[in-house]
Formats: sequence, C-alpha cells, structure tokens
Amino acid sequence: MDLRDAIRTIPDYPKPGILFRDITTLLGDARAFRRSVDQLVAPWAGGKIDKIAGIEARGFILGGAVAHQLSSGFVPIRKKGKLPHTTVRIAYSLEYGLDEMEMHEDAVAAGERVILVDDLIATGGTATAAVQLLRQMGAEVVAACFVIDLPDLGGADRLRAMGVDVRTLVA
Ligand code: AMP
Repeated sequence: MDLRDAIRTIPDYPKPGILFRDITTLLGDARAFRRSVDQLVAPWAGGKIDKIAGIEARGFILGGAVAHQLSSGFVPIRKKGKLPHTTVRIAYSLEYGLDEMEMHEDAVAAGERVILVDDLIATGGTATAAVQLLRQMGAEVVAACFVIDLPDLGGADRLRAMGVDVRTLVA
C-alpha cells in the first residue's frame, strides 16, 4: 500500500494556487493510519523518548498515537491564547505576516528527549519555531517527524541545518 494513495489533494484550498494535502482521508483509513504511525515510530522502538510534541492541530492526532506507541508523554504546541496555564511563546513568520505559538512553561523538563510531530512540512517556518521553543525549554530534540514533505519548499533542509534529525514518510 502506498500512503500517497490515502492522502487527498484539494486544489486552491485555502486559497488559489495552494495544493492542500488533506490527511483526513488517511486518518479515516484504518490500515493507512496504522501504517503511518508504525512507520513514524519505527526508528525509536525500544528507545527512551520522554515526550512527543505535537503541533496544532493535525500534529495532535498523529502525535497522540505516536506517544501511545512509544509510551511517551504528549505535549501540545498551540496557537496563542489556547493554553490555560503559564506559557512560553515564540513568533514565527507565515506566508503573510507573523503568528505566535506557545506551550506550557512546565511541559518539558531540561534534558528531556523530545520528538516533534506534525502532518506536513512545507517552508519549515512552523517546525523551526517549535524546535526553537523546545530547545529554549532545555529539551533535547531527538527528531522531527512528518507524514508529508514538500521538498521544493525546503523546510526539511532548513530543519536539518539546525541539527535536527528529520524523518518524513512521503514526498
Ligand atoms: P510550514 O510552516 O510552511 O512548513 O507549513 C507547515 C504547516 O502548515 C503544517 O502544520 C501543515 O499542516 C500546514 N500546511 C502547509 N502547507 C500545506 C499544504 N500544502 N497542505 C496541507 N497542509 C499544509
């Protein structure tokens, strides 16, 4: 089974010119969902990973399953204003303008081994900000994992240039 077949492409969403890679079809396909999670966790089976950090919102679904499989904790990285306790925050650039993401200040302890999970890496703006935030908290970012890489946009290379081990399942 090719995971690509389980991912739906929506042209011109959310705006003209964007090919949106929709993983809801993959999540709804029991075999494709399991295979994705199995492939994401395979490199770390049996290793000690303290926390999985998932990026809102699709990173929560995949990251939660990965955390369960690796017997790790789960940490949500959210858009600003959604987390109830004291947070640490980082600004990052989107295609137009800036946005901010945050996590709870006590979500990871210094020295904890953390894997970042999201559905897709494009320019890498989101993931590089998340890695910076985790490192600010003293976490050791063991890897960043994505189901989909859009290699033309260079995000995975940008993350690797920061010394991150980047794993992706399909390009
Ligand atoms: P970037 O920060 O440019 O790497 O964008 C990655 C984030 O935006 C991820 O959280 C993705 O879910 C979302 N994203 C960016 N481009 C697409 C796309 N073509 N299809 C689906 N999601 C996308």
